[in-house]
Amino acid sequence: MGALNVAATWVGTTALGPGRRSVVWVQGCPFHCAGCMSPEWIPDVPARSAEPAELATELLADPAIDGLTFSGGEPMRQAAGLSELIRAARRIRDTTLVCFSGYRLERLRTRPPAPSVAELLDEVDVLIDGLYVSTLDDGRGLRGSSNQRVHQLSGRLAECGYDFSERGRTAEIAVDGREALLIGVPPPALVSVFDAAVDQVRQSHIGGRS
Ligand code: SF4
Repeated sequence: MGALNVAATWVGTTALGPGRRSVVWVQGCPFHCAGCMSPEWIPDVPARSAEPAELATELLADPAIDGLTFSGGEPMRQAAGLSELIRAARRIRDTTLVCFSGYRLERLRTRPPAPSVAELLDEVDVLIDGLYVSTLDDGRGLRGSSNQRVHQLSGRLAECGYDFSERGRTAEIAVDGREALLIGVPPPALVSVFDAAVDQVRQSHIGGRS
């Protein structure tokens, strides 16, 4: 099966679901939601090419990781590779799966936008579906706006005490070399503050070199 086209990964966060998780953000999204917090991951261009089995090993390198979160970009456009990734991860360790998608669940089931969407849905514990609508961003929950829905597909995380819909927002800022990642579904005002801070650091770096 083919390699994944990955925008970014992070090993070890508590900001994108219950427990301690690793995250894959895929590159490429067919939607253009106004206010998308990751517009650089919308273009369908080559980014990091990663073999699913190798990526599974990397994401579970920390033995405390008990879950994966797939985000993007649009995960369902790479359903085949992501299905392979979660199956490989579960051969290493029991791992829960939270997945975001701009597509509604009904659309995914009736008119899947890519091969292997049904196989990926079979592996997903919690699906958060729907497009981000900035005017419906109420600052609550692990969904960007109130139109997005939380589907407990397997039921496995339904009683874990984590309120996907209404919990207070949390986010982490991770720095990897010269790159900074904003991890989580942040309160609305934080995205612009983060972008401004990153721009400032980049400008000072450019200024320092010239
Ligand atoms: S679906 Fe998600 S990644 Fe795609 S444009 Fe909308 S907010 Fe951005």
